[in-house]
Amino acid sequence: MTELVTRTAVPTGTAPTRLVAALRAALPGKVVAPDDAIWDLARRGWVLNVDQRPAAVVTTDTAAEVAAAVRTATAHGYPVTAQPVGHGATTALTGSVVLRTRGLGGIEIDTAARTARVGAGVKWGELLAALEPTGLAAPAGSNPDPTVVGYTLGGGLSWFGRAWGLAAHAVTAFDVVDHDGRPLRVDATTDPERFWAMKGGGGDFGIVTAMEMRLFPAPELFGGRLMWPIEMARPVLQAFREVTAQAPEELTLWAQLFRFPPDPAMPEAIRGRSFVCVDLTFLGSETEANHHLTRLRQLPAMVLDTLAPVPLGRLGGIAAEPTDPMPGQEWSGMLGRLDASTVDRLVDTVGAGADVPLAVVQIRHLGGALTRGTSEDGPNGAIHEPYQVFALGVPVSPEVSAGIEAAFGTLRATLAPELTGRTFFNFLGQDSDPAAAYPAGSLVRLRQVKADLDPAGAFRSHRPVLA
Ligand SMILES: Cc1cc2nc3c(=O)[nH]c(=O)nc-3n(C[C@H](O)[C@H](O)[C@H](O)COP(=O)(O)OP(=O)(O)OC[C@H]3O[C@@H](n4cnc5c(N)ncnc54)[C@H](O)[C@@H]3O)c2cc1C
Repeated sequence: MTELVTRTAVPTGTAPTRLVAALRAALPGKVVAPDDAIWDLARRGWVLNVDQRPAAVVTTDTAAEVAAAVRTATAHGYPVTAQPVGHGATTALTGSVVLRTRGLGGIEIDTAARTARVGAGVKWGELLAALEPTGLAAPAGSNPDPTVVGYTLGGGLSWFGRAWGLAAHAVTAFDVVDHDGRPLRVDATTDPERFWAMKGGGGDFGIVTAMEMRLFPAPELFGGRLMWPIEMARPVLQAFREVTAQAPEELTLWAQLFRFPPDPAMPEAIRGRSFVCVDLTFLGSETEANHHLTRLRQLPAMVLDTLAPVPLGRLGGIAAEPTDPMPGQEWSGMLGRLDASTVDRLVDTVGAGADVPLAVVQIRHLGGALTRGTSEDGPNGAIHEPYQVFALGVPVSPEVSAGIEAAFGTLRATLAPELTGRTFFNFLGQDSDPAAAYPAGSLVRLRQVKADLDPAGAFRSHRPVLA
């Protein structure tokens, strides 16, 4: 093993103009550079307030184009990063060559073997639609817009994590372009340390061109949203706590507090109003699901009940999250417990009476199969925390941004007795330390894998393990 380093060695690059000229020669018509009129659009991520300043942006639609871009960038001393959509936009990719890999398509489903092979540009909404007629499903998250690969490299905390574990732990192989531009087949046999690191360690270990994963039988899916005015937050969250404490692994509930702006573009029913919701999925029939939901459905003042059988292709609609780029500022953490006093403090801090600039405060129920991951499955190993908290504000001005940060601080203080210090990788805030995502042993191993396999820092994750 090479000596463990503590920070990615950023190579000293040649002048950007020479890099750009070489990229344009290797990939004509595919390169956008700072002097191009569309530069500001090209460098933008999905999270609009993050000011990404790469050295160049290259559209790579085939593995051969990825290889050409990697070879050219590394020859000129520039790190490379893939950013198909930009949900994980961060300033960590400053000075790197960003590959837009959305064009790496292709979905192959083997129903007999219960496996899927997806190109690195495939979005979750596309895979779920393709799986819908098969009766098989994959561990998708709340939103149809992230790529399957980007989400899974970050671990992948799914609606179905309680039943099937992390998405990353279902991966059987990656097709990768390495720092020399060579195609690699990365699986448990061919390249075990890289494979382990990529199952939750992010984009630091090569550019993925395709991924293969196990599928799970899901003949029936039930779910939707229950919603009340935010004044009902206390009884709803107490009921959420009681129902989740008894929930089978097939049932997943997420509680959310929403504050909608008085934006004329919003539907009148929600414009300028605030709500408490319970969103849920159940891997089974409506009859079985209802057995667990009586406590919630009996609560008064409900304004919306969309619970119904859900075609898999519409899974992404349950949480009704935005899919278009927007500004966002987020914070998250894992909770060691959620008891009656936690709920009371949370409602006092962000409930109806509180004036906080947080568009969303979400509590996800974890547990189940997530607790049974092992350190050999990937860097996340087991997640023992039974709940995750996530908060999002929309920073429309520096003043609002400061208010959001202050609200995160208040939330952190409120939940201090329950916060364990761990944050799931895919929910790290823009400035969070990736070290918070992993058990200590995993972090040491991840950094060693990075030092061994990419000592020159050819690849730059949006949340580098050596940060
Ligand atoms: C509205 C919303 C809802 C979300 N819900 C969930 C959820 O339920 N569960 C969950 O786990 N996460 C969730 N996320 C987080 C999301 O999974 C991460 O932001 C993820 O990184 C998005 O991947 P992407 O490819 O779409 O984004 P991008 O920002 O384009 O990519 C993210 C990073 O992944 C790496 N990467 C992507 N493609 C490649 C590749 N081909 N090769 C190498 N590295 C690559 C790179 O480091 C890149 O910077 C959500 C995000 C949003 C915005």
